[in-house]
Amino acid sequence: MKFSVLTLFPEMFEVLKTSVLGKAIENGIVQVNCVNIRDFSKDKHRHVDDYPYGAGGGMVMQPGPIYDAWKSVAGEDRPLVVYMSPQGRPFNQKMARDLSREEHIVVLCGHYEGVDQRVLDEIVDIEISIGDYVITGGELPAMVMIDSVSRMVPGVLDSQETASEESHYSGLLEYPQYTRPPEFMGRTVPEVLLGGNHKDIRRWRREKSLEATWRKRPDMLERAVLTDSDREFLKKL
Ligand code: SAM
Repeated sequence: MKFSVLTLFPEMFEVLKTSVLGKAIENGIVQVNCVNIRDFSKDKHRHVDDYPYGAGGGMVMQPGPIYDAWKSVAGEDRPLVVYMSPQGRPFNQKMARDLSREEHIVVLCGHYEGVDQRVLDEIVDIEISIGDYVITGGELPAMVMIDSVSRMVPGVLDSQETASEESHYSGLLEYPQYTRPPEFMGRTVPEVLLGGNHKDIRRWRREKSLEATWRKRPDMLERAVLTDSDREFLKKL
């Protein structure tokens, strides 16, 4: 899967070359190609922003360099174009899963006061937000989205089971995790995890998952797919 990122700060994306995503990039499962919008400026000082029409504070990214940067990667296949924006649809696990089925995604990162509306109208298919707050640029939101989408691409995680049990994937939060040592500050690992009974472990994990969701994100339970025994268990909490 390929991401073409249109940005003024390509160096920020070096961070993606670490850990799970770094390995996926190294193995060629995921490609992240950054295109510097400034390279498409026609201005001798390489400016890509200007004052907003109608006055107001800050600068606005001009449409021309963004359009030309997009043209340089869009080619014949017309990939999906995502604009990272605080006005976009709130990003979630389902969107990550759906986007992971695309072969090529172009990600536009805004900066300053934002981007001239005309180029957004011309090239953008979907606006995505990472939450109801404003940050300085689209680079960090783009990295959040790219990381999360990439985790859904087959072969990126060691096993798909790891992804399918993670928080949000199944509509519930994940159960608590433990590793060695068996005792830490007087706190022990739950007995069931030390025995090898996989059926008991599965049931314990399901119940802990339901419990964590009930305690921390009860709103998720309204949308989760629950069995009769899940409901019985929740009634007891
Ligand atoms: N003036 C804009 C507004 O009120 O909608 C905000 C501009 S913001 C300072 C600059 C850029 O950061 C945006 O163009 C967008 O690409 C990115 N950005 C800021 N907050 C974001 C969020 N919550 N999710 C996704 N992108 C965001």
